[in-house]
Parts: sequence; C-alpha cells; structure tokens
Amino acid sequence: RKKIAVMTSGGDSPGMNAVVRAVVRMGIHMDCDVFAVYEGYEGLVRGGNYIKQMGWEDVRGYLSEGGTLIGTARCMAFYERPGRMTAAKNMVLNGIDALIICGGDGSLTGADKFRAEWPSLLEELVSKGELQQSQIEPYKHLNIVGLVGSIDNDLSGTDATIGAYSALARICEMVDYIEATASSHSRAFVIEVMGRHCGWLALMAAVATGADFLFIPEKPREDNWREEMCQVIKQHREMGKRKTIVIIAEGALDKHGEKVTPTMVKDLLADKDGLGLDTRITTLGHVQRGGTAVAYDRMLGTLQGVEAVKAVLEATPETETCFIAITENKIARKPLMAAVKETKEVASLIEQQRFNEAMALRDTEFSD
Ligand code: ATP
Repeated sequence: RKKIAVMTSGGDSPGMNAVVRAVVRMGIHMDCDVFAVYEGYEGLVRGGNYIKQMGWEDVRGYLSEGGTLIGTARCMAFYERPGRMTAAKNMVLNGIDALIICGGDGSLTGADKFRAEWPSLLEELVSKGELQQSQIEPYKHLNIVGLVGSIDNDLSGTDATIGAYSALARICEMVDYIEATASSHSRAFVIEVMGRHCGWLALMAAVATGADFLFIPEKPREDNWREEMCQVIKQHREMGKRKTIVIIAEGALDKHGEKVTPTMVKDLLADKDGLGLDTRITTLGHVQRGGTAVAYDRMLGTLQGVEAVKAVLEATPETETCFIAITENKIARKPLMAAVKETKEVASLIEQQRFNEAMALRDTEFSD
C-alpha cells in the first residue's frame, strides 16, 4: 500500500484544514495509508508521535475549522542538511515516500530541496549505519506535491492561494465595522492590511469596500501623492461623505522605495493646516488570518487536495515536481519551481523599484 503524508507549513491560512481532510479521505478512497505530519517540518524532523496515521473519522469537522488543526511551525533544523536527513530517516521508518505540503513559497522551496537531495540523504543514512540498505531499497524516489496556502495571494501561476478569499472577506467585514463608527463621528481611518510584498488583499479590499484612497507596493504613488490624496478626500467630503477610509498594504512603498506608513498618512489627514480630520489608525493584524474559511477556500482546498493525491499516485521518477493551481477556474498541475522562481523575481523587482518589469512578469503566465 502506498503511504502518503500531508503537512501544513509556514503561516497558517484558512482552508488548510480542508486540504488535510481532502488528502486523508481521497487517499483512503484510493487505497493508500495517509499520515499527517504535525507542526510542519518540525514534526518531520522530530518523528515519533508527530507523524500519525489518519483514519476517515480523524478529519471529521475539519472543513469548518479555521487555522490548521495539525499545526504549523517555522523549523530552523530543516534549513540544514542534517535536519533534512533526520526527516528522511523518519519518513523511511514510517514507509512514506510521498509528501503533500500546503504552505507558502518557503515551504515549497524546502520541499523541492528535500526531494532533490533524497537519494543522497538515504545513502548517507546507510553509510552512517542509521538505516540498512534493505530499508531504503523501496524508497528510491520522493514524490512531492505542493498546495499554496497563503492569505497574501502571492504565488505566481495561480489565480488564488488557499486562504486569500477568507482574509479578504475578514478585512471587508472589519472595514464595515469601522465605517459605522467613522461615519458617526465623521472620522478618517487609515487601515493597514497584510500582504507582505503583495498588494492583492489591499487592492481587492479597497475595491470591495469603496475606500477613498489606497497604497500598494506594486503601484507606488507619484511624488505628489500627498496633494493628490488630500484633493481626492476633500472632494469626497464636499460631496457629503462623513467617513474617510484609506487602505494601506503593509508593504506599501513610495516611488523612491521608502515605506509609506500609516502614521505618515494619518499625520497628513489630521494636519490642522490641511484637512484637519479626526483620524485614527487601525492595524487589522491577525484577525485577517483567523476565523473559519469562506466557502471558496473550503472548495479550493478540497478540490486541490483531491488533485494532489491524484498527482502523487500518477507521478513517476521522471515527472517534474508540481504544485496544484487554479487558473481560469480550472484546477491544474503546474511546475513547482518555475512558479516559486517567478514569485521571488517579482518580489525582488518590486524591492528594486522596477515596477513595470515586475508587473509585466506578474501578468505573464510561465510556460507549462
Ligand atoms: P509564509 O508565506 O506564511 O511565510 P512559507 O512557507 O513561505 O509561508 P517559511 O517560513 O518561509 O514560510 O517556510 C516554512 C518552513 O519551510 C521553514 O521554517 C523551513 O523549515 C522550511 N523552509 C523554507 N525555506 C527553505 C529552504 N530554502 N530550504 C529548506 N527548508 C526551507
């Protein structure tokens, strides 16, 4: 019987439980033994109780739960070869040679490195006497399939990452709450949202809430953004609006690569010589990650989890390592490292202020 492990890694995101449930149940349906690795790579390195065989009932109720019930962690040991060697040993001891990982680009990079090193890790374990040659014989290749769990929607090659729509829904809900009080007191609110290098959450939240002004990393404002913002907001106020909402992505930059901070924006809106608005800052923080997954993320996690099991079972040693994407509403397998590479390139171009190139790259599909 084929033995498959499923793991969640990196930052948690709503919908990861849907992935675990789908992998466990699809795996069992396909006559496999399915294991959950608790606490991400940390569990793989520690072994023992951290690697647990899952039954059909073990994932009952998972769909509606937020976060990740099998835990996640950042694992320093897995960055180093000795840590990955211990992880390989624990997998062989459990008879596992297929791993489905739901995480961000860091977790997926680690997985690919692990896959590439696998034969040499096993050889070294034998040469050190930690495993017998006969023990490693059936596990010559490691199959890896990635699923992208991230609230930031920051991976190239897929339209949506698992968790992004839940975070977006949460942000919109929070902005609605804030709007009620903003309107009552005729206040302005500067709302900082997550996303790291990526402005997707901020942009979509601004569209969905009808925000007055927006700052995202991908499209820095012109040098006259202060005048422009005050002008727009003044105009909205003159049209009778009693509330002002400015959304700022945590990675927002100006044309010169300097961070645009909520305090800078607040000070400007509150300036007595200018608009003089009673202005507050709200940093939404981890409420954006918490709570249950919206229907879209439950659906995405489930369909992609099922596809991941199929991909693992169909893989041959020659198959290129893939991740499961959604493009134009279709679930698709795509080369993993091409997507990770492109994601890193876009982030680094944005950091270097080469926005047009970065946007062109983000808009191009890498070849399948
Ligand atoms: P998020 O987008 O939420 O940050 P992530 O998967 O990118 O998720 P990371 O902290 O980068 O989060 O990675 C999670 C774990 O994956 C790390 O703690 C480490 O154990 C492993 N990992 C990440 N990058 C590598 C790498 N280059 N080599 C080996 N392991 C890695």
